[in-house]
Amino acid sequence: MDFQFSPQQELLRKSIREFAEGAIARKVQHMEETDEVPWDLYKEMGKQLYMGIMIPKEYGGTNLGNLSRMIMIEELARVSAAVGMAMQIFHLGIAPLTDFGSESQKKKYLPGLAKGENLATIAVTEATGGSDPTGIQTTAKLEGDHYVLNGRKCFITHGHVADVLIIMAKTGEGPKGFSAFLVENSFPGFKLGRKERKFGLRGCNTGELAMENCIVPREYLMGNEGDGLKVCMAGISEVGRAGMAGCGLGVIQACLEASVKFANERILGGKPISQHQAIQWMISDMYMDLEASRLLCYRAAWMRDQKMRCDTDMAMAKYYATEAAVRCSKKAVDIHGGYGYMMEYPVQRYYRDAEILIASAGTSEIQRIVMARKALTSFK
Ligand SMILES: Cc1cc2nc3c(=O)[nH]c(=O)nc-3n(C[C@H](O)[C@H](O)[C@H](O)COP(=O)(O)OP(=O)(O)OC[C@H]3O[C@@H](n4cnc5c(N)ncnc54)[C@H](O)[C@@H]3O)c2cc1C
Repeated sequence: MDFQFSPQQELLRKSIREFAEGAIARKVQHMEETDEVPWDLYKEMGKQLYMGIMIPKEYGGTNLGNLSRMIMIEELARVSAAVGMAMQIFHLGIAPLTDFGSESQKKKYLPGLAKGENLATIAVTEATGGSDPTGIQTTAKLEGDHYVLNGRKCFITHGHVADVLIIMAKTGEGPKGFSAFLVENSFPGFKLGRKERKFGLRGCNTGELAMENCIVPREYLMGNEGDGLKVCMAGISEVGRAGMAGCGLGVIQACLEASVKFANERILGGKPISQHQAIQWMISDMYMDLEASRLLCYRAAWMRDQKMRCDTDMAMAKYYATEAAVRCSKKAVDIHGGYGYMMEYPVQRYYRDAEILIASAGTSEIQRIVMARKALTSFK
C-alpha cells in the first residue's frame, strides 16, 4: 500500500493552495455580501489549466485524474466551499460529455470548457424528482430532426451561468424511459427561472430552469435514447459524490485550522483555552474526522483512477466527509464561543456551507441505501 502522493500531485496541491489563499481568499467577502459569481476566478483558473483537469489532453485538458481532482477540490473548498462546489459541478457537467459524448460533441465543447471560457453543469432534479430521479416530469419528444423539451428543473448549480447543460428528460416509460441531452443556454425555448437565495455557498449560483418547447437538435442526445439514467447517474455517483466529499474535506480542514488558531490565542483565566481538556477533545475529534475522511475520499478517487468499481466507496466517502464537515463546523463554532456566531470570524461561514454539502449529489440517507445494498449482499 502506498499512501504517498506523487511529486506532481504535491506540486498541484501547493499551486492550488497558493491560488486559493490569494485570489480566492480576496473574493470571499465580496461573494458573501453580493452572492455574485466570481467570473474572473474561473477565467484565471482556465489560464492556469485548472479547469481542464478532467478533460483528455487531445481536447485541451490536462487529464490529471480523480485523485488530483480530489486534491484540487479540497484545496479550493478549504478557502471557499462555494468555489469548491462550483468546480465540482463543472466537472460533473463535463463527465457525461467525456464518457458518453460523440466525437463531434467532444471536439465542439471540451476545448472551450478546458480553458474556462464556458461553464458546464448537469440538471436532473425537479420538484417531483430529487432523491428519486425517476420522478422527473420533463419530457423530450422527437419531432423530425430535433427533440422538443418541456419541463422545469430546480436547485441547479450553475443553472443560470452554465453555457452547456446536460439535461435529463423522459422519452418513454420505465428505467429505459429517460434520456440525457446536451443543451446550450442559447437554444430556443430554454429559459431561466428563479435564482435561489441560499444561506450558504454564497457566490455559487443555484437556480431554476424552464424548458418551454425547447428545441434540441437530435445529435445533441447523449448516447442513445433510453441511456439517460446511465449517463446522469454514473456521473452523479462517481464524479458528483467525489466532488461533494472533496468539499467536505476542505471545510473540515478549514474548521480545524481556525479552531486551533483561536484556541491557542484565546486566553481565559490566564491560559489559552487550548489547555482545557474539553477543548482538546473537540480538536482531537475534528482531527480524526479529517484523517478518516481523507482516507475514504482519496481511496475512492484512486479506485476510480484504476477504473475499479467505486460507487459504494464514493457513497461512503461522500456520506462520511460531508457529515463530518457538519460535525466539525459545529465544533468550530462552539470552540469560538460567542465569536463563532459573528460575521468577522469565518467559522459561521463554514457552518452554513457545510450543511448543504449533505443534500447535493444525494442525501446521507441515499448514500446509506447504496452502502446497505452492498453490505447486505457482500456479508451474507
Ligand atoms: C445547493 C444545491 C445544489 C444542487 N445542485 C444540483 C445540480 O447542479 N443538479 C441537479 O440535478 N440537482 C442539484 N441539486 C439537487 C440535489 O441533488 C437534491 O436536493 C437531492 O438529490 C435531494 O433531493 P430533494 O431536495 O428533492 O429532497 P427529497 O428527495 O425530497 O428528500 C427529502 C428527505 O427525504 C429523504 N429521503 C428521500 N428518499 C428517501 C428514501 N428512499 N429513503 C430514506 N430517506 C429518503 C432525504 O434523504 C431527505 O432527508 C442541488 C441541491 C442543492 C441544495
